[in-house]
Amino acid sequence: MATGKLRRNTPQRRVILEELCQLKSHPTASELYAVVRQRLPRISLGTVYRNLEVLHEDSVIRKMEFAGAETRFDGNMEQHYHVRCTECGRIEDIFPVDQDQTPAQPVELAGFQVTGYRLEYFGICPGCRKMETFPGRQTNPTH
Ligand SMILES: [Zn+2]
Ligand SMILES: [Zn+2]
Repeated sequence: MATGKLRRNTPQRRVILEELCQLKSHPTASELYAVVRQRLPRISLGTVYRNLEVLHEDSVIRKMEFAGAETRFDGNMEQHYHVRCTECGRIEDIFPVDQDQTPAQPVELAGFQVTGYRLEYFGICPGCRKMETFPGRQTNPTH
């Protein structure tokens, strides 16, 4: 983590970071743009993208890349994992019960110096599980 090398946040970047940290939904850039635009009506999607890249380079936010899905962003830098619902696509934070144990440990025991890892859980969220128990579940629910 690059400490002391942080670029000075522009007012726009501050707003983007504030809003991202408030959202627990791990938004995509365009989802975040919709929220930020309420405070900065003249901001463009491109500006939001660029600032997210800068914040990620400065290790202020996390970037979450999934195969075949839009990149999402996370303002929570605490050690945690993510579980993604395969039904509705929502992402929730999972905090390890034992903070000292990381998925890197077995790899370190094998003699590797671990420089990073990516752990992603999949599952069906409580909301979707509830829907599955109803036999008359509509395949095309209206929002
Ligand atoms: Zn779900
Ligand atoms: Zn998260």
